[in-house]
Amino acid sequence: MREESVNTACGFCVAGCGMKVSLDNGRAVRVEGLPDHPVNSGRLCPKGASAIDYAYSQDRIKFPMKKIEGEWKRITWDEALATIAAKLLQVRREHGPEALAVVAGMTVLLSGPVGKGLMRRFCDAYGTPNYYSVDSMCFNPHLMAYVSTFGNFPVPDINNSKCVILWGTNPIASQPMKARRIASAQANGAKVIAIDPRRTASAKKADMYVPIRPGTDCALALGMMNVIISENLHDAAFVDRWTFGFEELAGHIRSFTPERVARITGTPAETIRQVARLFATSESASIVQGTMSLDQSRTGFQTARAIAILQAITGNVDSKGGFADPPLLPLRSLRLREMVRGKAIGEYKYPLAYRIWDREIGEGQGMVLHDALLTGQPYPIKAMIVQGSNPVLSWPNSSKLKEAFEKLDFLVVMSLTMSETAEMADIVLPAGTFLEKEDIMEIYRSESGIPYAMLRKKVIQYEEARSDADFWLELAKQIGFGKYFPWQDTRGVIDHLLEPTGLSADDLANGLAYGSIRYGRYEEKGFHTPSGKIELFSETMADLGYDPLPAIELAGEESIGDAGPDEAYPLTLTTGARHLTRLHSQLHNIQKLRKLNPEPLAEMHPDSAERLGIEDGEIIRIETETGSIDIRARVTEDIIPGVINIPHGWAEANANQLTSEQPGDPVSGTPVLKSLRCRAGASVPAGIRC
Ligand code: SF4
Repeated sequence: MREESVNTACGFCVAGCGMKVSLDNGRAVRVEGLPDHPVNSGRLCPKGASAIDYAYSQDRIKFPMKKIEGEWKRITWDEALATIAAKLLQVRREHGPEALAVVAGMTVLLSGPVGKGLMRRFCDAYGTPNYYSVDSMCFNPHLMAYVSTFGNFPVPDINNSKCVILWGTNPIASQPMKARRIASAQANGAKVIAIDPRRTASAKKADMYVPIRPGTDCALALGMMNVIISENLHDAAFVDRWTFGFEELAGHIRSFTPERVARITGTPAETIRQVARLFATSESASIVQGTMSLDQSRTGFQTARAIAILQAITGNVDSKGGFADPPLLPLRSLRLREMVRGKAIGEYKYPLAYRIWDREIGEGQGMVLHDALLTGQPYPIKAMIVQGSNPVLSWPNSSKLKEAFEKLDFLVVMSLTMSETAEMADIVLPAGTFLEKEDIMEIYRSESGIPYAMLRKKVIQYEEARSDADFWLELAKQIGFGKYFPWQDTRGVIDHLLEPTGLSADDLANGLAYGSIRYGRYEEKGFHTPSGKIELFSETMADLGYDPLPAIELAGEESIGDAGPDEAYPLTLTTGARHLTRLHSQLHNIQKLRKLNPEPLAEMHPDSAERLGIEDGEIIRIETETGSIDIRARVTEDIIPGVINIPHGWAEANANQLTSEQPGDPVSGTPVLKSLRCRAGASVPAGIRC
């Protein structure tokens, strides 16, 4: 019997906690947190602690399979790769390279630069611009807004902050290691404010809870600016020297008085004043914006712009305790941009989602795929490779997307389990978990407070599963792109990526803190924007026909959200809140996690429940203009009246039967998932209710 252990990085979320995996004859038997890792200091959350159950789950796909006359037949990897290569060459010959679309899920994005980089390089070598990811409905408005305001993507320097605003985020449920850092900042004297329609676990620990109607966050930010500027609490010297368009901003926010904003947001006017004053007068302040919560609204981009502007006018940029810009490892890019033909579907309508000045964000808006597949416009997509994603369940308007996927000539799905999307495929491939991948784990964002990198190591082999990176390397060779993919294995790719850093994979084997956060770098070179300053007023936006200052369009000032009042659908539905035991549609099959979170629940305030005649624990029906689901009600004081909150990723009550893929945010095309109109009631006629 041979026992050993391997140190690696957890891959369930962006935190990348250090993990020690103990092996017995090559089988993983125990996982523990690495005690000296800067993110988790020996801890693992329930997801990380379930890594072994996840890796050896009975539900995993064990070998490649091909659908023949509706039945799944086991095939070899060689046959799978040869079939895929031949079909992709045929599609390219008959329809052009843009007829292939590739969709990356969260697990691919979390893999690291090798997995995602090889996927992009394959798309480039093939010539297709049609790369899509979960960011189409998640993080892009936030990213685009910060880049178009600051010229880069800074992160809150939580460790050193004296005022931390948790805006639409509940780190105790979504990023527990970050929650620990917030608690430690609070213990060091920071005031923590939580802005959320729900009194979340994090909100309960905050110094101040600020309730708000879903989808009205941009108005609240404008109201805070109104208080800060009218009371001269802004950093006039910084604003004068380092921002562009302050006069226009000051004129723009004049009408957003706290009283007006209170009518829009439901947040009391005096609370708006208190938050604004505390934020502006603290020695340092930073806003922790939810990864996607504010993005999934009609004003996702403008809300993130408004948050960036709050940081800017108070001088909390590139500063200790404000927004900071930790250094990145200068890795090589794997892109071959010059080989791409045409534009991605969605790039025509949402150009900033692809490129802002010389900054490539680089993906199409996936929400246009529903219609593009159904209509063949603006051009046909004939083949698709979906990796680490289950769009038929986890993308909006599931029913329509399923119908759209049926139009494909050829669908390949690389997945851990036989997901709803995998069931539709022509070929299914067994994916590897993060314990079966080798990559670079760079934890440079707000996860550790220090720039840190670690090698994610391949710890186990499960049946015939392969890593994403191995798949793209092998497919590239099979299809004849070998000269663009000269590496024998992922270790070769890692060395290639690391070359400019002077580091090797061995240097990163046990984790490496590199460099440190430097503040005030703008004083040397200015900001990487056309004006060289922070762009409060954006001429780029104006030139593209967008609002150059954060603006809101509300159906009514006393609305229930940004959807506005509607008699047929009088409630606001918010979907997709995080839970410590799930990762979107993943981990629902892990029994010990399921015990902690056995079923999806629809949360509503007692006032709403009473008005609707709904009892706690009752199965109710929720309906939107898109569809309906049945789900159990949970009546709680921890949500504002008039709002229903449901989780996503559950096949048994699929939130995406209720959502629409239609663009909500005009700049990014991100759909509205956080503030939909809905109605709710008993699912079964009262007479036959149990
Ligand atoms: Fe893994 Fe949990 Fe750490 Fe995220 S917080 S990396 S899921 S252990």
